[in-house]
Amino acid sequence: MDIGHALKSAQLPSLEIEVLLSTIIEKDRAWILAHPEHELSQTSEQFFSQALKRREAGEPIAYIIGEKEFYGRSFIVNHSVLIPRPATEGLIECALKFFKTETDNISDIDTDIVCASKKLGDLANISTIVDVGSGSGCIGITLALELPNIKVIAMDISSEALEVTKANAEKYSVQDRIECQLGDGSKLITNVKEPFLLVSNPPYIPEGDDVSPDVYFEPDTALYAGDIGMDVLTPLVVAAQNNPLCRAIILECRKDQVDMLN
Ligand code: GLN
Repeated sequence: MDIGHALKSAQLPSLEIEVLLSTIIEKDRAWILAHPEHELSQTSEQFFSQALKRREAGEPIAYIIGEKEFYGRSFIVNHSVLIPRPATEGLIECALKFFKTETDNISDIDTDIVCASKKLGDLANISTIVDVGSGSGCIGITLALELPNIKVIAMDISSEALEVTKANAEKYSVQDRIECQLGDGSKLITNVKEPFLLVSNPPYIPEGDDVSPDVYFEPDTALYAGDIGMDVLTPLVVAAQNNPLCRAIILECRKDQVDMLN
């Protein structure tokens, strides 16, 4: 099969087919579009037909190609981690703004989803960010890249997820500034030795909530947190507020969950 034929061979948006082909053939989309006569090797053709089947079954394209763009950079993803969301780029913006202004803020980053930042103590000379539930590492690594003097402690309860954080830290050559810790963030933050700022996009969806079908392919532990979605947030915020070294919290959560910060 040639590229021209492959592009017409599935009931998917052409952009998606181009992205799949581009990953399989390891050429950019412009090249794909300019070479309709290029013959796919047998292996490429096999990969392509498997990828189409997965996509047609509803699997998010990010898992099929193994990456997702976040804040202008491509992050490695697999089924152990949440696919980075555009809304979470809003959390990055909030965190960067908080570094400059040091003021509490609640901003909408998606429908019914907010980023909340709250100062808890003295912010002078803070050089550590703790990213609880690092998953792909998109938050901690992006902040490390945007703030070159910052060190990040990335925590995740899943060792598989932490492997993805590590892989992305290496991809962006910040492994010497990203320390990975395996475990429950609300417990681990009590061991942090220096003043820090807590940034997190924790699981906050109430169990049984209606979600889009894409989400079925993502790890439940990264998404759901009990009846009202507070099983991770509450202990985390309590631990942060009781820890004199935690000088600020910057969280992504639902609008109706933000009162817990008070
Ligand atoms: N920090 C990761 C993200 O924002 C994972 C979040 C999670 O697993 N809840 O994508």
